Amino acid sequence: MFDHDVLIIGAGLAGMRAALSAVEAGADVAVVTKVHPVRSHSNAAQGGINAALTDRGDDWREHAYDTIKGSDYLGDQDAIAVMCREAGDEVIAMEHMGVIFNRDDEGRLGTRAFGGQRQARTFFVSDFTGQALLHVLFEQVMKAGVRIYEEWFLLSLIVEDGECAGAVIMEIRSGEIHVVRSKTVIIASGGLGRVFEPSTNALICTGDGMSAAYQVGALLMDMEMVQYHPTTLKGSGVLITEGARGEGAYLLNSKGDRFMERYAPNMMELASRDVVSRAEQTEINEGRGIDGCVLLDVRHLGEAVINERLSQIREIGRDFANVDLLHEPIPIRPGMHYQMGGIKTDVDGQTEVPGLYAAGEAACVSVHGGNRLGANSLLDTLVFGRRSGEHAAEVAKSKGHGTTVSDASADGDRLNIQRLLDNDSSGEMFGKIRREMGDTMNEHLAVYREQNGMETALGELRGLRERYNNVVVPDKSKTFNTNLLFTLELGFMMDCAEAIALSAIERKESRGAHTRTDAPDRDDENWLRHILVKHTDDGPEVEYLPVVITDWEPQVRSY
Ligand SMILES: Cc1cc2nc3c(=O)[nH]c(=O)nc-3n(C[C@H](O)[C@H](O)[C@H](O)COP(=O)(O)OP(=O)(O)OC[C@H]3O[C@@H](n4cnc5c(N)ncnc54)[C@H](O)[C@@H]3O)c2cc1C
Repeated sequence: MFDHDVLIIGAGLAGMRAALSAVEAGADVAVVTKVHPVRSHSNAAQGGINAALTDRGDDWREHAYDTIKGSDYLGDQDAIAVMCREAGDEVIAMEHMGVIFNRDDEGRLGTRAFGGQRQARTFFVSDFTGQALLHVLFEQVMKAGVRIYEEWFLLSLIVEDGECAGAVIMEIRSGEIHVVRSKTVIIASGGLGRVFEPSTNALICTGDGMSAAYQVGALLMDMEMVQYHPTTLKGSGVLITEGARGEGAYLLNSKGDRFMERYAPNMMELASRDVVSRAEQTEINEGRGIDGCVLLDVRHLGEAVINERLSQIREIGRDFANVDLLHEPIPIRPGMHYQMGGIKTDVDGQTEVPGLYAAGEAACVSVHGGNRLGANSLLDTLVFGRRSGEHAAEVAKSKGHGTTVSDASADGDRLNIQRLLDNDSSGEMFGKIRREMGDTMNEHLAVYREQNGMETALGELRGLRERYNNVVVPDKSKTFNTNLLFTLELGFMMDCAEAIALSAIERKESRGAHTRTDAPDRDDENWLRHILVKHTDDGPEVEYLPVVITDWEPQVRSY
C-alpha cells in the first residue's frame, strides 16, 4: 500500500497543473497515468488557449459573454466569470514557465481568431499548442519531485464513511493490484470521446474517471452535451484545427458556395461550433455535400502562412486524406470531439463526495454549457486544475488517512478481474461491443437527434451491456495485458454512454449541441436547467439543477 496527501488520476494538462499547485501548497502529491504523461490527449490540442488581456483592449467580461452565449446560456455564469477572470494570469504563468507562444509582428504574444468570439484572443503555439503546454508542465512537475505512477491504471475509488480515501490501481507492467491511500483524490482523467466512433479523441479517451466517480456517488452533469467539431477528416475522423478557419479558411459545398453566409451571416465560418456543424450537416443532408462531406479551403492563405501556422494539419491532410491543402480543398465533416458534461464540481473542483475532486474534461464545472468555445478547454484544464490542486492540498493538511483502508480494500477489484480472466465461455471479446456502441452513439446521438433514435440507442446500449457481462478475455497473462485493459475500459465507457443517452432523451428542447428535430426550439421556461445523473443500485436516476445566471440574461442566439 502507498500513502499520499493528494492523489491525481491523469497526467494531462488538468492533472499536471493540479499536481504543480498542490505540491507548491506543501502537499505530498502523486500522479497516476495509464500512458506516459506526454501521451495524454492534451498533447493533441492544436489550435490554442483563450484569454482576454487588458493591455490588448480586451476584457474578461467580453470573454465571459462570448462563452455564455456560446454555451447557449446553459453554462453557470459564476463559474464562467472565474475562468475568464483568471485566464490572463494563467497564460502568462505558462509563458514564464517556458511555453514559447507565437508572437505578433511587434514581438508581443500573438493571437488568432477562434469561433464564437468577437475578439482574437486565442494564444497559440503554431498548431501544436497542447504539446507545448504539456511538455513544459511535465518538466515543472518533474522538477518539483512529484511521484508519477506511469502506466498504472485506475480501477476504482475507495470511499470510507462517505469520504474519498484513496484508489485501487493496477500496475500495467506486472498486473499487480495496489491500494493507494490518499487524503484527497483528483480525477483528471480526461474525456470519453471514444464512446463514439469515429472521434477526434485518442483511443485512450474512454471516460474511466467519470465512471469511477459516478460509481461512488459523484453526479454526472450535462452529459447530453456532446460537441461535434465542424472539421474532422473524412474516414478517420482526425481533427483539422479550428485554427484553420481562425486564419481565414473557407467552408464550401459541392456548388462551391461559402454556405455559412446563409446560416451565420456575421461570423460566417467562425460562428460557434454547434452552429457550423449543423450548417454542414444540413448541406450534406440536403444533397449539397460531396460523399458525406463538405470542403475546407485554405489555399488562399498562401504557403508561408500555412507552413508557419498550420504545418501539422498540412501533414495530417497528406498522411490521412492524401490531399495537399496547399493545392486542394480538404473533405471534412462534423465529428465527435468533446464532452461538455462530466463530473459535477464547484469552482474548486469539489464533487458531491467529500475529498473527491475533478478537473479538466472529466469535470463539469459548468463553464461550457451546451457548447464549448474552441480554445476554452485548455483554459478550463489549467484554471480549474490549479484551483483543485490548491484546494485538495489545503483540505489534506487538516485530515488524516482513512483508518479502515488496507490492502484488502482492493479485494473487490481483484475478484472482479479474476472473474473476467476465469470466464472461458464462448462469449465474445470487447472489440465488437465497443465498435457497436460507438456506431450506435454516432448514429443516434450526433448533430441531429430525435426521440425514437435516442430510445433505440438506449435500448441497444442495454443489450450491449448484457453482452458485456459475458465478455471473454482470452489473454490470461499478467504482463501488459492490453486485452484486459481494453475490456475494463469498455466497462467505464458503457456507464458514460448510458448517461449520455438518458440525459439526451430527458432534455425535451434544442440547446447548444443538443439539437432535436422533434423539438427544434430552445425552451428557457422549462429547460434552463442542468440534467444530472446519479448512480443507484437500481440503475441511473435523473435530477435537475437550475442554471446560475448573474449578469447576462438569456437572449436569442445568432451569429
Ligand atoms: C485533437 C484535439 C485537439 C484539441 N484542440 C484543442 C485546442 O486547440 N484548444 C482547446 O482548448 N482544447 C482543445 N481540445 C480539447 C482539449 O485538448 C482537452 O479537453 C483537454 O486537453 C483535456 O485535458 P485533460 O487534462 O482533462 O485530459 P487528458 O489530456 O485527456 O489526460 C487524461 C489523463 O488521464 C489518464 N487516465 C485516463 N484514464 C485513466 C485510468 N483508468 N487510469 C490511469 N490514468 C488514466 C491518461 O493517462 C491521461 O494522462 C482538443 C482535443 C482534441 C482531441
